Amino acid sequence: MKRIYLDYAAATPLDKRVKNAMKPYEADIFANAGAIHFDGFEAKRAVEESRKSIASILGCKSKEIFFTSGATESNNLAVFGVAEFFKKGHIITSEIEHPSLLAPCKVLEKRGFEITYLKTGSDGIVSPLDVQKHLRKDTILISIIYANNKIGTIQPIKEIGKIKGRAYFHTDATQATNFLNLKVETLGVDLLTANAHKIYGPKGIGVLYKKSGVQIMPQIFGGGHEEGLRSGTSSTPLIVGMAKSLEIAQNIKNEENLRLCQLRDYFIDKVLKEIPIARLNGHPMKRLPNNANFSFLHADAESIIIKLDVLGVSASSGSACEAQYQKDKKENRYSVRFSLGRQ
Ligand code: PMP
Repeated sequence: MKRIYLDYAAATPLDKRVKNAMKPYEADIFANAGAIHFDGFEAKRAVEESRKSIASILGCKSKEIFFTSGATESNNLAVFGVAEFFKKGHIITSEIEHPSLLAPCKVLEKRGFEITYLKTGSDGIVSPLDVQKHLRKDTILISIIYANNKIGTIQPIKEIGKIKGRAYFHTDATQATNFLNLKVETLGVDLLTANAHKIYGPKGIGVLYKKSGVQIMPQIFGGGHEEGLRSGTSSTPLIVGMAKSLEIAQNIKNEENLRLCQLRDYFIDKVLKEIPIARLNGHPMKRLPNNANFSFLHADAESIIIKLDVLGVSASSGSACEAQYQKDKKENRYSVRFSLGRQ
């Protein structure tokens, strides 16, 4: 049976071009990028060229890009890093963040930090006015996800960037990296998280953009790699793979977004017309080109996903309980996410 994979928001296949770009660094050019001999320099050059390429896509300096093990680590580094630098204060985030952002906030709450979790409107979007209303003199960090991983809603990052005041502004751009503008100056962010495995790159690699002058404390200590912000031997193949996957994503972004939007809207129309109990979750337009998230009244999400799986379709439970986007909370249990992709 030919399977239909509709879970690209969870993981994407490794692009062959990315795989090829990584290959030389897996066995032949294996030396430690921190070593000061010729072999090490070759690896170091690949790491620095990758950093430069990523920086040019984000419109920032190379020294503002820090490699991590993925978006979970980048989010942890941003939140704990800022909190530890300031030692106390108030943080604004939203209820629709990924667990790798919410869990650190919960830990900080126990350590005496005050956290405001903004609710979204019924369309799944955080209001910039709401951010402004909750800003305080002691707000040290605002962290709002760029595009939500479950219902795919795109948040008004640029607008929030304009009103952030003196607080540092972080966005988790993991789901947005494939599709949206990543220029950090336009967005007005001080910190940005991204990873490679949502963009047809390898798993286990991510970046944190940190604007020069923004002060955060490292969370992993050791040999002082990544300018002391994140110790650990650089994974040359993964870093090369991350840069290559981002380059490809940027090059095909416009046409791929158009293609996916058409597919998405066709799919949404069909489902809503043919299944009377189906409801679309999130904003009809301000959503990722690849995301369609539905609730099916009185039908449990898990059993739908299992039935689809038997029929050869991979979808995911878009547990919108996390997202709090629906007024009717009961409906949240019934949310199914379909996410489209290149194949
Ligand atoms: N943030 C968002 C929005 C995500 O979708 C994910 C992946 N599910 C992560 C963070 C965590 O990414 P990683 O697997 O690279 O740690």
